[in-house]
Amino acid sequence: MIIIGAGIGGLLAGTLLQEKYSIKIFERGIIGGRFRNLPYKGFQLSTGAFHALPHGSTGFTAEILNKTHTPYNIVDGDPWGTFLIDGKQYRFKNLYSFLSYMEKFKVSKVLFDMKFKKGDETPSGEYLNDKLKNDTVNRVVKAFCGFGMSIDPDDIPTRSFFSVVRSLYKYGGPGTIVGGCSALTNSLVKGKNIIKKRVKEIVIENNEVKGIIDSEDNFYEDSIVISDIGIKGTVKLTGKKHFPSGYLKKINNLKEAEGIKINIATRESIIDHNGVLITCDTERVEGLNQVTNVDPSLAPKGYHLIMSHQTLRSSNIKKEIDLGLEDIEKIFGDKDYEILLVQTFRNGFPVNRAVSGDDFDQKTPIKGLYLVGDSAKKETMEVDGISKGVLELYETLTSNI
Ligand SMILES: Cc1cc2nc3c(=O)[nH]c(=O)nc-3n(C[C@H](O)[C@H](O)[C@H](O)COP(=O)(O)OP(=O)(O)OC[C@H]3O[C@@H](n4cnc5c(N)ncnc54)[C@H](O)[C@@H]3O)c2cc1C
Repeated sequence: MIIIGAGIGGLLAGTLLQEKYSIKIFERGIIGGRFRNLPYKGFQLSTGAFHALPHGSTGFTAEILNKTHTPYNIVDGDPWGTFLIDGKQYRFKNLYSFLSYMEKFKVSKVLFDMKFKKGDETPSGEYLNDKLKNDTVNRVVKAFCGFGMSIDPDDIPTRSFFSVVRSLYKYGGPGTIVGGCSALTNSLVKGKNIIKKRVKEIVIENNEVKGIIDSEDNFYEDSIVISDIGIKGTVKLTGKKHFPSGYLKKINNLKEAEGIKINIATRESIIDHNGVLITCDTERVEGLNQVTNVDPSLAPKGYHLIMSHQTLRSSNIKKEIDLGLEDIEKIFGDKDYEILLVQTFRNGFPVNRAVSGDDFDQKTPIKGLYLVGDSAKKETMEVDGISKGVLELYETLTSNI
């Protein structure tokens, strides 16, 4: 079997499938992709993720790690998070204090729907406004969707939003990886056959995968190719002519999740827990985590590392960054801090290659060609969604062996 891309998706797929298949993983650049540490001025920033997993040590990623005896150390958020509203932090249960008696009843009904109903194509923002109109609820949901998925409630159908909420109930909230993203990718890479070459073509004959060609024109024959480079990249390497028009149309309409991350150094702590601080009355910043609460070694001695996230809301990057920096100033108040690095994620290097709700199935229309990664997430968000996709692919590829 061939895997294209040693991002977290490709590595998790390789780890799970290696007991059944002999695997070659091709990687054109840095192993770990958007899930690895980025050392900077003594801090361990990252190429993408916030050194965290949406469902911590009880999610789908942990399930793969446990199944394959891959070592890891994840500390679950306790609490999962707090919400910053009008300058004060609230636990989830305390948000009820913003609601009237009738609104409390309506919120319970909405949570019941999310937990037990499938949802449909209705935009989640529209659904919420229809069920209850409360400014605090709207702000909380907007910040949560922005931080977790880089999407507005109006852009995510209830079928996906309900599924994410259900997963939180079922699998718990976020956890931080001790050692950061690289601790996980370094663990996963052990024992893998990684070929450090770019794949330039996926070879198809009669609608079946035959193998790949690398950048030096070597042909590697195989009847199974798993692509971790996103659906758009996969189609580019394969050739559009091999895909049905309906499939190509869905790709054309595909939205990527785009965002900005601001990395901040501070001597004074601003978050007193190891979950996420969701910010509900800011212009752009939707949430922050202070990863040094879990692992002080992610910053030089005496410093904290804080990372903030905001959905990219226009193509005016400078304006978006300035608005984010103004939010940071507001959140930090009179505390001393230093902006280490601002990272923008878009144009082929996004937060997610498909926004939640737009994901593709692992199976493609071509026999033997499969997808993993963040345009093929299942059930929940971010890397735990990738992992659920990998688990489903494992079932598909091993059920007849
Ligand atoms: C700001 C930000 C914050 C985030 N926060 C979190 C978080 O806290 N928790 C979380 O779970 N997720 C988070 N995510 C999302 C997460 O980082 C990504 O979903 C995940 O890393 C994507 O992994 P992947 O394997 O799908 O893709 P990638 O990491 O992009 O891996 C694809 C790999 O394929 C290689 N490749 C591409 N083309 C070729 C080719 N032709 N030949 C060979 N190799 C090729 C690339 O070099 C790359 O290494 C965040 C993302 C961002 C940007």
